[in-house]
Amino acid sequence: MTDAVRAEVLAVYAFADDAIRAAAPRCDASGRCCRFTEYGHTLFISRFEAELLLEGAPSYEQPVSRDGCPFQVNGLCTARETRPLGCRIYFCDPAFQDRMSEITEATIAALKTTADAHGTGWEYAPLHHFLNEPRAATTQTPTATADSMTGTRVPLPVVPGS
Ligand code: SF4
Repeated sequence: MTDAVRAEVLAVYAFADDAIRAAAPRCDASGRCCRFTEYGHTLFISRFEAELLLEGAPSYEQPVSRDGCPFQVNGLCTARETRPLGCRIYFCDPAFQDRMSEITEATIAALKTTADAHGTGWEYAPLHHFLNEPRAATTQTPTATADSMTGTRVPLPVVPGS
């Protein structure tokens, strides 16, 4: 990832964090956002987010299942500084769901704009897809894969029932 791309992605994270602060959704600290299968959702991330996440995350064992995130330890995130957008934006608070969708759509659109502007290509897939790649692959040019998401679909980073 170039410095220019990194700066734009971090600016999108800052936008998301500011929007969350302004909305002040309730967090019950249940940890359910990180236990995907148990609570019926899937965390989708872009390759940009995967690269940043792995820069700041602790080491982990492969293979990683789709069931949960290996960086949740004792109910806490051990990769908080570099966690992806879905982790920043997702809250269980019922009163926050509409605003959550708006922030998600705005931030994913911004990342796609960065991808287009810098010609990086766009890859969007479940978290475990990226975590199961050889570590060096996260810094390589993206290639199409069977479970990657391309095109104009903009699903929520955390998709209930997926
Ligand atoms: S990176 Fe952190 S917040 Fe995101 S799913 Fe993993 S443990 Fe949860």
